[in-house]
Amino acid sequence: MSKTTRKLTSGRLIIASHNDGKIIEINALVAPFGIEAVSSKKLGLIDPEETGKTFVENAIIKARTAADASNLPALGDDSGLAVAALDGAPGIYSARWAGEPRDFGYAMKKIEAKLTKCGVQDLSARFVCALCLAWPDGAEEVFEGEVSGTLTFPPRGDNGFGYDPIFIPDGYDITFGEMAPAEKHAMSHRADAFRKLTKACLDDD
Ligand code: IMP
Repeated sequence: MSKTTRKLTSGRLIIASHNDGKIIEINALVAPFGIEAVSSKKLGLIDPEETGKTFVENAIIKARTAADASNLPALGDDSGLAVAALDGAPGIYSARWAGEPRDFGYAMKKIEAKLTKCGVQDLSARFVCALCLAWPDGAEEVFEGEVSGTLTFPPRGDNGFGYDPIFIPDGYDITFGEMAPAEKHAMSHRADAFRKLTKACLDDD
């Protein structure tokens, strides 16, 4: 029996993020649905501590915190890069590997150094994304997406954010950092999760 999902009917949605790169991408994804999205960063809502052990748990923490604080539906995204030869690291710690203040040049070098140190040949990796749509009354819907690819060093391209310059999606020979934003937005882990969310919570059928 298929589960009934809550539809997003309100015109206003909080994007539960303080990450400008993510806010831009999520805005581009929700814009075609006539949703008025505003980020928790813009509203000055807190960025909760990511105490979850999985992408899904952290996405729920972010969405729930923003929905409770704003009394509006909120969309939380927890995502990251999972490198096969590093047992899925940095994974849920993808942002934290960049230190404070965030330096993804440093984080990408750290991945390269760990792979080199182990003499690893397998450069396969996945970007993973968990999205949680939370409503103030306690309802929550969760969706997961991913995109597979191969890492390349040194980093290439100035587009996107985070680890985009070292990730070549399967079937391509350019990194997400070299790709036009619209092309990345159409095929990313976030787009994959968002397609599932759209089907369940935004489409009428
Ligand atoms: P968090 O979900 O806020 O914990 O942060 C996830 C981190 O994963 C980001 O800061 C990026 O470093 C990385 N990440 C997530 N999605 C992407 C992406 O689409 N491109 C590049 N890096 C990403």
